Amino acid sequence: MPTRPLRHLFHPANADDYADILHRGIDHLGDHLREVTGPARGASPEQAAKLIDDIDLDEPAGEVEDVLSELSRVYLDDTVWFHEPMYAAHLNCPVVIPALLGELFVSSVNSSLDTFDQSVGATYIERHLIDWTAGRIGFGAGSDGVFTSGGSQSNLQALLLARGRRRGVPADRLRVLTSQDSHFSVQKSARLMGLSDDAVVTVPTDAARRMDVAALKRALETCDADGLTVMAVVATAGTTDFGAIDPMRAIAQAAGAYGAWMHVDAAYGGGLLTSPRRRHLLDGIELADSVTIDYHKTFFQPVSSSAIVVRDGSTLQEVTHHADYLNPRSAQQPNQVDKSLQTTRRFDALKLWITLRLMGADQIGDYFDTVIDLAQDVAEVVRADRGFELAADPSLSTVVFRYRPLGMSESDADDLNPRLRQELYAGGRAMVAGTKVDGRSWLKLTLLNPMATTEHMVEILDTLRTLAREIDAPALLEVS
Ligand SMILES: *Cc1c(COP(=O)(O)O)cnc(C)c1O
Repeated sequence: MPTRPLRHLFHPANADDYADILHRGIDHLGDHLREVTGPARGASPEQAAKLIDDIDLDEPAGEVEDVLSELSRVYLDDTVWFHEPMYAAHLNCPVVIPALLGELFVSSVNSSLDTFDQSVGATYIERHLIDWTAGRIGFGAGSDGVFTSGGSQSNLQALLLARGRRRGVPADRLRVLTSQDSHFSVQKSARLMGLSDDAVVTVPTDAARRMDVAALKRALETCDADGLTVMAVVATAGTTDFGAIDPMRAIAQAAGAYGAWMHVDAAYGGGLLTSPRRRHLLDGIELADSVTIDYHKTFFQPVSSSAIVVRDGSTLQEVTHHADYLNPRSAQQPNQVDKSLQTTRRFDALKLWITLRLMGADQIGDYFDTVIDLAQDVAEVVRADRGFELAADPSLSTVVFRYRPLGMSESDADDLNPRLRQELYAGGRAMVAGTKVDGRSWLKLTLLNPMATTEHMVEILDTLRTLAREIDAPALLEVS
């Protein structure tokens, strides 16, 4: 048997190679990890592109060691490390090691979760995790759901299910109500579904950046008076910028009065389901028709790991299609494809499974609680510092702030803060995010690393101050 050309396949004949190559990969990454000294090295898009454009894909690089050292050069050396305590930019979590153990099995065994006959136990592991999540949400018997590629896909599917309830209403009469701070995937989903451009009606927020329920009620009345059908109200449990949690109980009541589907986008706040100290912040989530949970945000899981969970499992039939070659109606098998927008689908659920089996849920919740505590501490530091402004009290683990010492105009702050963010990245010691609040430029710390401390954040603030003085020395002299 010609084994050499086939030595790359995952196969018992190659079990030694399998272990050897993966161990080398682990050693390479472990060695690299020990040397990481900051969240990134500040590479520009041009520098990153140049390294990769030069690679000739028709010529293999050589043996494993050659490939790994090339990988360091074109990727690892300049990549962004979410485990670094001064990485505080986007909603990326550092990942837990049990999930990485799971990832090994996800990729190697390569089950596909579309049908039972491609997955067997995996189908039931996924179902058990969905039931567990539904239980934590407070859904009763009859609830169901499915893992998805991310919150965007979960939100899209939720809106598809909502539209299912409004069959027969012309697309241009359908409306979706959501707060002005909700995630852009709501708009994108509406567009993908062929709804009209003005289908998504945004509802203003209150002083705490939560959906204003009085305004929601007025919007519902207005739609009704105009002969429009509100097919869904989308509440957010943890907005991307402010972590604000919309008042779900009141929203459910208002939506229910018009027969509208209520979806809760808990992509960010979902981690509170495991919080020993803050589960009550999700009060009312059990009244939703559907919920988005991103395990790859606040359950410390690697991308992708997400789910849509619905109160009434039969509503998932909206996305069911029977194909003779895959999931014929006669099969009577527990085929997850009947509930999913995807066909071939990764066994991402296994990562969460191993995490729960090894760590337990309380520790995940503890990690999330720790970063929420940190955000509250850091907000106090920002508030007390005359060089900075705080946009709002933190709700979860984000702190929206800007550099604006006394006497600096809003428009100068608008120019300066995005530059500060860029310079901070270029320096390689820390990373923060940028956003706009009421048209003005702000910076944002997104804190998801339970190993980060207030001292780390103070160092970021001090670095920003130093950079600001370097950039803006003349302007500052004028005001002092
Ligand atoms: C991140 C996020 C999403 C999108 O989730 P992906 O997993 O990135 O697709 C949706 N809603 C909210 C509130 C989010 O924070």
